[in-house]
Amino acid sequence: MTMPYPDVVKPIMDGQELKGFAVWCPVCKKGHVFDSRWIFNMDMKRPTFEPSLVVDEPGKLVCHIFVVNGDLKYLPDSKHNMRNRTIRLLPFPKEK
Ligand SMILES: [Zn+2]
Repeated sequence: MTMPYPDVVKPIMDGQELKGFAVWCPVCKKGHVFDSRWIFNMDMKRPTFEPSLVVDEPGKLVCHIFVVNGDLKYLPDSKHNMRNRTIRLLPFPKEK
């Protein structure tokens, strides 16, 4: 028996309104949110979002991700050690 894939995408709600979908980034230790500008294949276990997402927040390292078929690719212009690496997306950690 194989383990089912876990859900790795979290819907982000604003009250009753769906704002977007987030994936967990183990480098930034937070969710990165794709809103309606991105194309999502609606697969919560093996998601693809197009195009890529640049997370550039003041005081934080630039994180440039591409999510394809459940993989999280860190693009070369990311300003952290995981650039050029691809990992399997992980579920969001349990809330404390
Ligand atoms: Zn990140």
